[in-house]
Amino acid sequence: MMKKNTDVLIIGAGLSGLMAAAKAADSGKKVLLVAKGMGALGLSSGCIDLWGYSLDHPEEICQDPVQEIIKMVAAQKDHPYAKVWDVLEESLSFFQQICSQNGLAYEVAEKGNWLLPTALGTVRPTYLAPAGMAARELPRAKNILVMGFQGLKDFYPEVLTTNLKNNMNLPADCQLTTLMLDLGKIELSPNNLAYLLEKDEVLQRLVSQIKPHLAEEMVILMPPVLGERGHTKVLLNLVESLGVQVYEVTNIPPSLPGQRLQQALLHHLKKQSVEIILGCTVIGTTVLGEHCTEVLAEGSGKNLTIAAKSIILATGSFLGGGMEAQPGKVIETVFHLPIKVLDEKWSAKEFLSLEGHPFSKFGIEVNNHLQPVNSQGEVVIKNIRVIGANLAGANYPIEKCGNGVALATGYKAGKLVGEV
Ligand SMILES: Cc1cc2nc3c(=O)[nH]c(=O)nc-3n(C[C@H](O)[C@H](O)[C@H](O)COP(=O)(O)OP(=O)(O)OC[C@H]3O[C@@H](n4cnc5c(N)ncnc54)[C@H](O)[C@@H]3O)c2cc1C
Repeated sequence: MMKKNTDVLIIGAGLSGLMAAAKAADSGKKVLLVAKGMGALGLSSGCIDLWGYSLDHPEEICQDPVQEIIKMVAAQKDHPYAKVWDVLEESLSFFQQICSQNGLAYEVAEKGNWLLPTALGTVRPTYLAPAGMAARELPRAKNILVMGFQGLKDFYPEVLTTNLKNNMNLPADCQLTTLMLDLGKIELSPNNLAYLLEKDEVLQRLVSQIKPHLAEEMVILMPPVLGERGHTKVLLNLVESLGVQVYEVTNIPPSLPGQRLQQALLHHLKKQSVEIILGCTVIGTTVLGEHCTEVLAEGSGKNLTIAAKSIILATGSFLGGGMEAQPGKVIETVFHLPIKVLDEKWSAKEFLSLEGHPFSKFGIEVNNHLQPVNSQGEVVIKNIRVIGANLAGANYPIEKCGNGVALATGYKAGKLVGEV
């Protein structure tokens, strides 16, 4: 049995765990991160959603997510944002700073939320967008060219243009056209196309097919396939060769923008000397009194005991593996912490209800220091902080706050353990 000793142990490598690790390492702590898998980030759009819709009119997109969160927190003290309100702004700046240091710039809109097109031509509100998606000129564009690729499934330019006309407030004289590019491959996945486009000769073949279709004040939209590791270089190269703005739009998972963010954060953590063990599942814990003294983890058939002063539980919800539903009950899988089940009914009758499903709000309740509490508000284990999707009270699919909550709670936990 291998033994490890660290200041801070983080369990989970989703956005919340990666943020917590970055902030704790920034505070000078020795940090070890273990995770059984990579979490939801690689499946997500790569955008940071803070808050999407109006509280008073849930069918309307909200322009200013911060103002909406202020209103919501005043009414719902048990929402995760209520516990991290004090650091929300600094957590967003910290995130932008470490991403840009690692070659992935994120941008805020001129006011509040970006309204960005999706592959289906719907409009998606989000707060921080990767520079390659932040289509600032779109609302004023005279010409929009939507490009697809022969052989690439799940991206159909005509669907995007037809729906975008109805969903986005475009200038009345804006022309929308489509173009199918042919790179001579029969079937393409987003990842192998992205890899191909990192080769200069392939990118230039693409440029020569687009050039005859360029027009005045044009914006080009395309699926998120502009490079895996060298994304920023591929994008700049394309923009310079064409002389017009080119943007990727969000598409269904798996998503390269989410994977790029994951890679940028992992790269940052390695530079900060954070030890990362992936493919490693926490399977047992030793709790003496109100403290966890050790956890037992298993990876590649080998066991590992880890002693840590502070532990951050970033195991996600049902999808990440942090919570499990069993007949009549929900359990937290690592420490068996109390779970707040907010309703007798776990799901709503209507699948696409604007109220969402109650099970999305199930999770662990915490105090303002992100320590887990029981139904009387008493701290259950003192040296644990809980972050991200396994917190009670948020309904991310409806509120559009998943990555915002993960980012801010991860940052605060990292900051708090840095002070211990
Ligand atoms: C398909 C999809 C798309 C999404 N798109 C968006 C989006 O575009 N914008 C947005 O803002 N939000 C989006 N969300 C929501 C958002 O991604 C999540 O709310 C947020 O990223 C959750 O992060 P997390 O770190 O809490 O958990 P997760 O990302 O779920 O990570 C949990 C981690 O814990 C690990 N783990 C679990 N149990 C153990 C154990 N016992 N031992 C070791 N490791 C363990 C997992 O392997 C994983 O690494 C999306 C979610 C999904 C599912």
